[in-house]
Amino acid sequence: MKPFENFLLNLRKAVNVIGLKDSAFEALSEPENIFESEISFKKDDGSDMTVSGYRVQHNSARGPYKGGIRFHPDADIDEVKTLASLMSLKCAVVNLPLGGGKGGVQVNPKDLSESELERLSRAYFRAGTEAGVFGVKKDIPAPDVYTNPQVMSWMMDEYEQIVGYKEPGVITGKPLELGGSLGRNYATSQGGFFILEEYLKQQYPDKSPKDFRIAVQGFGNAGAYFADIADRAGYKVVAVSDSKGAVFCEGDQCEIPKLHKYKKEGGSLRGNFCDGDACDIEKMSTEKVKVMTNDELLEMEVDVLVLAALDGVIHQENADKIKAPVVLELANGPITIEADEILESRDITIIPDILANAGGVTVSYFEWVQNRSGDVWEEEVVNQKLKKVMHHAFRDLLQIQGQYNGASLRTSAFVLGMQRILSAMKLRGRL
Ligand code: GLU
Repeated sequence: MKPFENFLLNLRKAVNVIGLKDSAFEALSEPENIFESEISFKKDDGSDMTVSGYRVQHNSARGPYKGGIRFHPDADIDEVKTLASLMSLKCAVVNLPLGGGKGGVQVNPKDLSESELERLSRAYFRAGTEAGVFGVKKDIPAPDVYTNPQVMSWMMDEYEQIVGYKEPGVITGKPLELGGSLGRNYATSQGGFFILEEYLKQQYPDKSPKDFRIAVQGFGNAGAYFADIADRAGYKVVAVSDSKGAVFCEGDQCEIPKLHKYKKEGGSLRGNFCDGDACDIEKMSTEKVKVMTNDELLEMEVDVLVLAALDGVIHQENADKIKAPVVLELANGPITIEADEILESRDITIIPDILANAGGVTVSYFEWVQNRSGDVWEEEVVNQKLKKVMHHAFRDLLQIQGQYNGASLRTSAFVLGMQRILSAMKLRGRL
């Protein structure tokens, strides 16, 4: 099933739970605008390369469109539309005065040199700016899969050259030197951690952090910071993976700095110990780790499974093999709707993406506020505010869940986000 179909089914579920009319479903089932452009840029060898670029603006009833830009070979219009729609709901779940959007460029950035990446980033942002897509009060992008603060810097610089004045708030997730916010780089993980901690405290009041074993799928920005944060808080991170494979730490607790070292030295976690199928058993035993496949990590007997990579990793075929009673979605859309139903029927709790990873956009919002007021907040202030936003959202979500007879957390999150967006649309006379 395509991601957007998946999104529509989730939306339908939420509409049915609260007994809304079809007009409510229709209001959120199509984006307000779609910008599509063929982006051309020069390769280092002087030839031209052209790739497809998108920006989908889903809903702006609550404020300007907000959401990241991803560079990925699979970033097609269906995926970008889905992610833009999820952004509208996500911003509403954490009650930010923002709408939802998402950008995508269909390219593998790993095939590009640094200067090619810069030319592509600038060309994409120029095309969008000239088409009137982006703007500090209109549509504010941020990083997503395979884009980072450097890409945001080029895009902001391109924008400022076009408009002729400084406007750092046109994009978030920038480096600190260019108006980024303290705490933004790890905000997705920090926000997810605040929610998980709260959930575990409520569900298992007699347990302490050291009683929870956690496996983290994905060791990019979100997964790596999450492992760090959970470890420092006393939880046991027992295994992590990246796209090439996983490592399990014997003694039931990974030393996080070592994981970073493995990744750096071996190019991937597994690459540090194995060359193809040949693995260095002695090195693994000295380091007290075992290599595993990604599937094995997903199917581990742990207390919490954190999904921090791409979408669709838990699907119809592997959902019945998941053993963790709690799954935290730090990535966007990592569980398909078929898998959702299987996990739900097995009483596995899913803490859904539009709540679990909303810390990123929340601190993006803080960055935008700082940029627009010319203020700079201390890291502690950022994190205190983030904690409050996340806790309030979780409280609101549990209230919805109670109201609708124990609907899943995902459906409750959809209901919460939808209700907020629809009420803004109504007030505007658009519904
Ligand atoms: N790409 C992130 C997300 O999916 C962050 C978006 C933002 O900061 O605007 O939530």
